[in-house]
Amino acid sequence: MPDVRTAAAGDIAGCCALLELLFSQEKEFTPDYDAQSRVLSMIIENPQLGRIFVAESDGDIHGMVLLLFTVSTFLGKKVALLEDMIVAPAWRGKGVGSTLIEYAVAVAGREGFGRITLLTDSDNEPAQQFYQSKGFSKSEMVVFRKLLDPETSRCDHESDAWMCRECGYLYDPAEGDPESSIKPGTSFKTVSCEWNCPVCFTPKTDFDPHS
Ligand code: FE
Repeated sequence: MPDVRTAAAGDIAGCCALLELLFSQEKEFTPDYDAQSRVLSMIIENPQLGRIFVAESDGDIHGMVLLLFTVSTFLGKKVALLEDMIVAPAWRGKGVGSTLIEYAVAVAGREGFGRITLLTDSDNEPAQQFYQSKGFSKSEMVVFRKLLDPETSRCDHESDAWMCRECGYLYDPAEGDPESSIKPGTSFKTVSCEWNCPVCFTPKTDFDPHS
């Protein structure tokens, strides 16, 4: 059985590999290595933001979960959001997930947190049963979201060929834009939002997905 411990900077690559699996299976998300590693570093460098727990054996990371910290005015206490629970496929069914959750719950309890909240896909029955078995109960609350960065949401669009609205230039990820240091093989969503059309200098945000 792997050991569970708080993650350090050297675990970021292993965690990103797990998050890539997680976001590939969740309907609402697509993986983005730069975004994931940036935020994992932010948490590790700023422990007041949260805590990442990893399950490790022989130097390999087999599972992770994280707690993000906030407060509840109702409870008058610190509370946590539990996110990004994932166990590598080869290690599923061996109690790694249980060990991670129990470890995170124990840490939160010991540090005076009043509640842990988590979200699952609405049709992911196995996950819901798993969390119920760990003492979580289903809330009647409904989740609402508003994306606040239109550039980010455009970057996350799944189409990968994009056309300049002004001049019709087509961004082809196979070619990239070497003159602007965008290497061949770079998907449009990972091109910097500072990038402009190489023909007419229209901003990236004025490109439309092209099928
Ligand atoms: Fe253009």
